[in-house]
Amino acid sequence: MEASLRCPDFLIVGAGVIGCAIARELARRRAGSVVVVDRGVAGGEASSAAAGVLAVASSRAPGGALFRLKRESARLFPDLVESLRDQTGIDVEYRDRGLLELALGDDDLHALGRVVAKRTAQGEAAELLDPGQVRELEPAVTEAATGGAIFAGDAAINNSLFVDALRRSAEGYGARFLCDHPFRAAARDGRRLQSVAAGDLEFEPGELIVAAGVGSRAVGELLRAKMPIRPDRGEMIALRPQRMLQRTTVWRDGYLVPRANGELLIGATSGRGQADKQVTAASLELLLRRAATMIPELGDAPLVRQWAGIRPMCTLRRPILGPVSGYENVSVATGHHRSGILLAPITATMIADSVTDRQSGVELAPFKYKKKP
Ligand SMILES: Cc1cc2nc3c(=O)[nH]c(=O)nc-3n(C[C@H](O)[C@H](O)[C@H](O)COP(=O)(O)OP(=O)(O)OC[C@H]3O[C@@H](n4cnc5c(N)ncnc54)[C@H](O)[C@@H]3O)c2cc1C
Repeated sequence: MEASLRCPDFLIVGAGVIGCAIARELARRRAGSVVVVDRGVAGGEASSAAAGVLAVASSRAPGGALFRLKRESARLFPDLVESLRDQTGIDVEYRDRGLLELALGDDDLHALGRVVAKRTAQGEAAELLDPGQVRELEPAVTEAATGGAIFAGDAAINNSLFVDALRRSAEGYGARFLCDHPFRAAARDGRRLQSVAAGDLEFEPGELIVAAGVGSRAVGELLRAKMPIRPDRGEMIALRPQRMLQRTTVWRDGYLVPRANGELLIGATSGRGQADKQVTAASLELLLRRAATMIPELGDAPLVRQWAGIRPMCTLRRPILGPVSGYENVSVATGHHRSGILLAPITATMIADSVTDRQSGVELAPFKYKKKP
């Protein structure tokens, strides 16, 4: 095996959106040789199961560091999608038409009013709408809508194409991807990770970056580093409506996401602690009911797909990013839970800054994982 493959400067475990984005950023900066190993295929897990909503203003995140991170990451998308298109020819279907949130009743409307007031004060685009304005934006919305809000800065992306484009771009900059190479073992010498076994290969990386999604917990066990990651199963379905929505439309926990291929994605359930990828009859019924409550005519649309993915949920309720304590050359980037697609660009910047000792414009400290003594 050639040296740049056996002794890469950076070995990344996991080729989901996070691993691919980090690989691309390191390779783009010419920071050193980059190898990514995955136990399956690139983007084969949560990253392709997602809905691709880039929700900042419409999210319920309070002010804080996580909200700022989401905002910073969202700002990176327009340039990133353009450079991915130029480099790989892949259009990742970035749609910046805003997100429409519905109110179906007075309680919803009051709650939305509070979100709009808060986001406006934070400098985000958010506007309360009356029922007529809601139906002007989306004529098929239920007559029961008592109003809504438009979050004009929120966007959506085709997450599967996004991961594909990130991987191809990373490869274009020289990163190597090895699929079907599960992380199996690690050996250390004091604080230094010496070698790693993945699939049938052995590596001696300069730096190991764990970006294995929900699998990060098991990778952590092999490194004897506890990762506070739990599974959260999300089920989704896709319909093919006759009349397509213009923008992502949300009501409470349910969202409808139009795709360029004519599919309307309907998401998503949350099954904390569940790691199997089945879609249950009860979830199917719930998702269909939510969709028809928002847009009654969807009751007549054919169901074309159903699937589930496992979100990497961190018990600290935020991603864990940066150096792993006890090691001088191991970092982690996981626990992005419901926002991994949105947070991928900023995560890549922060991890690339951290592992190359570059001063970062974004503060890593709130996201570091410190083990309890
Ligand atoms: C139904 C659903 C809807 C979602 N909607 C959105 C949304 O609208 N917007 C948003 O921003 N986010 C959304 N998310 C969340 C988002 O998908 C995740 O946060 C994100 O994909 C996590 O990316 P990741 O790279 O960390 O994990 P993954 O995509 O799971 O990638 C991890 C990779 O690591 C590999 N791996 C694991 N263990 C090992 C091992 N031992 N050795 C080698 N490789 C290993 C896996 O094979 C996998 O390819 C949604 C998630 C789900 C499930």
